[in-house]
Amino acid sequence: MNKIVVTGGLGFIGSNLIDLLIKNGFFVLNIDKVSYASNFYNTLNFKNNKNYKYLKLNINNKNKLTKIFAKYKPLGIFNLAAETHVDRSIDSPDQFINSNILGTFNLLEAFRKYSKKNKKSKLIHISTDEVYGDILTGRTNENYPYNPSSPYAASKASSDHLVSSYIKTFKIPAIITNCSNNYGPKQHPEKLIPKLIYNILNNKRLPVYGKGKNSREWIYVTDHCQALIKVFKHGKIGEFYNIGSNQNFRNLDICKALLKIAKKKINIGPDVKVNFVKDRPGHDLRYALDSNKIKKKLKWKPNTKFLKGLEKTFMWYFNNNKYYKSLPKKDIIKRLGIKK
Ligand code: NAD
Repeated sequence: MNKIVVTGGLGFIGSNLIDLLIKNGFFVLNIDKVSYASNFYNTLNFKNNKNYKYLKLNINNKNKLTKIFAKYKPLGIFNLAAETHVDRSIDSPDQFINSNILGTFNLLEAFRKYSKKNKKSKLIHISTDEVYGDILTGRTNENYPYNPSSPYAASKASSDHLVSSYIKTFKIPAIITNCSNNYGPKQHPEKLIPKLIYNILNNKRLPVYGKGKNSREWIYVTDHCQALIKVFKHGKIGEFYNIGSNQNFRNLDICKALLKIAKKKINIGPDVKVNFVKDRPGHDLRYALDSNKIKKKLKWKPNTKFLKGLEKTFMWYFNNNKYYKSLPKKDIIKRLGIKK
């Protein structure tokens, strides 16, 4: 059976990806350091599957990674381990340098050694649209220059450059993907959509940064994961692939859409109202990807229409109240990223 290593598999996208990989017949070893962003609730539906194994490990531990690759002989490694919250990168950039840049470097060193003898193996490095910076008009394709605005985006851009340099210099078999904003089940409520849902369900005001005009391209997490598996199976070594839905919405639109969905499903408390709060420093107004390359070359397309996906997402959090309960309340409600 083909073995896969997923790093960061206790987080949002990683756990959704593992679920899909197991359903696609792979054996998956999940490597995660266990941070505030990890949640064992995310692995409940596959933790007892015979094709799943979990190992607590920081990707900065190059020696251990080297031993694990030699032992398991994975055909694919999906690198999703990263610090991911922009607001936290404003408060504590050092953790982002450590996990996203140094972590990727150590993973690359272990993979460089491993892939020399295991020529069919592939590393898929998962990155973000935020590396391109603020895109006021048009959409960015894979040739667009990197121009990151936050320490998070800069650390991801650095990691992409490292992977790209290892491809050119050491000829490692790797591919880089840049995806837009994901939404769906199992996302930490420090992020916009699960935070708004939590507040709707708990009769709290709905915090919207600035005037709510920031626009993001929203993709349902399963669509992203399907694209990653396509890239792994059919992607060309050394290439970059953008992965997006082509559907942009402003934060205020998201708020209104969620309220509309919620009103159909539950009785909403009197305090559930939009509350404009202080904006994030360096907040990019818009990201928008041109994903024609993956659509044309790999015949991938997203399947989930935004409002359908949003309703599915709302219902998941509504039906999985234990998910929120598994997290410290302060991690859900505390405002971050406005320290001077
Ligand atoms: P997440 O914060 O939900 O999960 C990240 C996981 O990585 C956590 O479980 C954490 O413990 C683990 N981790 C962090 N540093 C580690 C280290 N040094 N060693 C081992 N494990 C470590 O993140 P997510 O939203 O699932 O994002 C996963 C990846 O996808 C990230 O690389 C992110 O940059 C990228 N991405 C995310 C989005 C999005 O909208 N969420 C969009 C595009 C790209």
